[in-house]
Amino acid sequence: MFTEAISRLDTFARRLPDVPRVEGRLTSADLVLEGPGLPASRVDRLGRFARISLRGISVRRTFACDLHLGLRPRVERVAAADAGLLYDASARFFTALHALHRDHPERFDVRESQGVGGVLERAAHFDAAAACAELERFEGAYPEPVEILPPDRYRDVVVKPALGCPNASCSFCAFYAGKRFKPMTRAHFASHLDRVEELFGPLLRGRKGVFLGSASAASLSNARLLEILAELSRRWGSWPSGVATFLDPDHAPARGVPEWRELADAGLTRVVSGLETGLAELRGELGKSSDLDAFVRTIACQKQAGLPVGLTVLVGVGAESQRAAHRGETARVLARMSLGREDLVYVSPLAGSMAEDALKHETRAFTSALRQVTAAPVAPYAMQRFGYYP
Ligand code: SF4
Repeated sequence: MFTEAISRLDTFARRLPDVPRVEGRLTSADLVLEGPGLPASRVDRLGRFARISLRGISVRRTFACDLHLGLRPRVERVAAADAGLLYDASARFFTALHALHRDHPERFDVRESQGVGGVLERAAHFDAAAACAELERFEGAYPEPVEILPPDRYRDVVVKPALGCPNASCSFCAFYAGKRFKPMTRAHFASHLDRVEELFGPLLRGRKGVFLGSASAASLSNARLLEILAELSRRWGSWPSGVATFLDPDHAPARGVPEWRELADAGLTRVVSGLETGLAELRGELGKSSDLDAFVRTIACQKQAGLPVGLTVLVGVGAESQRAAHRGETARVLARMSLGREDLVYVSPLAGSMAEDALKHETRAFTSALRQVTAAPVAPYAMQRFGYYP
């Protein structure tokens, strides 16, 4: 797929002089172009491409400048050592597109067309070297990668008042093994926000909300979270989806309804926790607390405080002999929580835990069992497809 993507980009670049019409729009954040004989593309105002669709193969860039190639239903990550070749090919393509705009502006039918040439010129310079510089900027802004977000929060801007995970030892977790929880100092967090602002540039206001990373920002004290929510509101105002966070309820301050309500009043709009399973012994084996009553109480307090919740459930964990009990007990625990339409349950198949077809079958069975006991939408959550995309 990788060599095919480069070859298609170069073919499109060669044929660009014959393209009769280019359509699109330029917003305060980005430039979107398409047309007959042209791959659809999205580039931000600073010339950093977000996506190019090459007739079936899509190339997407993450904020960390990883490149993902998509050919439905597959998504492949381009090896870091190869990515430069693809960045150079995209720069060649935008160089040709910039030349077309310079020589034949009459072929461009772009809403808000002022500035198109400048954006295309910058995109023509976004090559392998520029991507390396961009990665350095990302690493300057984020001391730790953005590993995962719940699907409803993919369009958030992630900020990290704390790094790592207060548990850091779940047997199935590919992201935080050994990465201990470490709150940022106030000064560090302020400079982190400055750098995130710089990194996003014109894209910041196009995000839908803010997500507090990393694995459990809600393990910070209420006093610190209230400071953080106030600082975010002072800097960036409000967001359509508000501010959300992950919570590891096993490693967090004890909070009752008033404490959760304080956070909701300050702008917190969703708390996402990993239930993983309702089978107590299995949850213990996975590295989480087997005290499911405590988990249910935490969710009840959040709901009474008016906070929508998100829960993740893992399919494929445990021995085959535990499979039916895992499904049945998870449904039973979920039924004890008064979830509504505003809440979300994510069913996440653990890749590699069983044969692909069996995992698909089990995920369908799980989803259907959970839908029978909760009013909350139950949706799939393919973690391996996540990318922190512009
Ligand atoms: S609590 Fe969550 S983030 Fe932390 S190790 Fe376990 S699964 Fe990973």
